[in-house]
Amino acid sequence: MISLVIPVYNEKENLSLLMERLEKVMQSMKRPYEIIFVDDGSRDGSLEILKGFIGRQGVRIVELTRNYGQHRAIMAGFSVVRGSIIVTLDADLQNPPEHIPALVHTLEEGDYEVVGSFRALRQDSFLRKIPSRIMNAITLKITKVRMTDWGCMLRAYRRRVVDWMVSSQEYSTFIPVLATLFAKRMTEIPVEHANRHGGKSNYGLRKLISLQFDLLTSFSEFPLKVLLYVGTVLSIAGVSFGILLGIARIFYGAEWAAYGVFTLFAILFFFVGGIFFALGIMGQYIGRIYHEVRKRPRFTIHEVYECPKVSLDS
Ligand code: UDP
Ligand code: MG
Repeated sequence: MISLVIPVYNEKENLSLLMERLEKVMQSMKRPYEIIFVDDGSRDGSLEILKGFIGRQGVRIVELTRNYGQHRAIMAGFSVVRGSIIVTLDADLQNPPEHIPALVHTLEEGDYEVVGSFRALRQDSFLRKIPSRIMNAITLKITKVRMTDWGCMLRAYRRRVVDWMVSSQEYSTFIPVLATLFAKRMTEIPVEHANRHGGKSNYGLRKLISLQFDLLTSFSEFPLKVLLYVGTVLSIAGVSFGILLGIARIFYGAEWAAYGVFTLFAILFFFVGGIFFALGIMGQYIGRIYHEVRKRPRFTIHEVYECPKVSLDS
């Protein structure tokens, strides 16, 4: 059985077309399937549209109590899947559902545990692509796994990888990267990328930065190391400055040193800046530790809607 998991946040304009295309694709595969829509606290009536789909084959709806963000919404969907192969995709039709059979085929034929996809000819604005570039570069550094495109959510997973992801209890998460921890064999295939069908992207710059930060702090201690390097360089610079000032004082006399007051100010500001920088990063980690130790649930499911099973021949 194949389970599709689709996070939905204010996507009312896209849902009917999405549903139509999904049904067409899934029926052509001639395999049992379920389509799990996770309503991530939409406020535009998406949930009502989704409820209208109940009764159509395989449709299940997970209603979250509030907006938790794309990755936690997917996680909520993961927690209720029944299939042995799980495919995630976006609700905005940027990932064409027609690629699902190819993903599943690659997963099964190649005996892979995760099959990703990269967006050939990506249809996003230049400004939206830059953060993704940075993100891909950093992710490569952290995971040492070469994938062309980490941001593309059209991905297929084997059930055990999904189960392991669900059982990892961290609060902040980035699903494609988390999966690399558990998957033995991974690959990726090219997919088309369309313009958003309707509505607008839910990722502003702020959300992108926060996602990037989640990724960085939940999968690496790199920022802490940077801190150490910056600190070391700053203190070496500070000591050398001190020695330099001392020598200049001997050669040019006390009068010269008085004019150095401003230099000292400059140095002071430099260090204060460094300290604030360091504290900021430490604060981020401590904040995250605080978040984790509270052990709040990552998502809270209000209700799962689905049609009771009816046997076809009755
Ligand atoms: N999404 C979500 N919760 C959020 C933000 C987004 O469930 O808080 C869903 C959204 O409905 C879509 C997918 O995540 O299905 C990707 O979002 P979007 O298209 O806005 O991101 P982009 O394509 O710009 O990266
Ligand atoms: Mg999108």
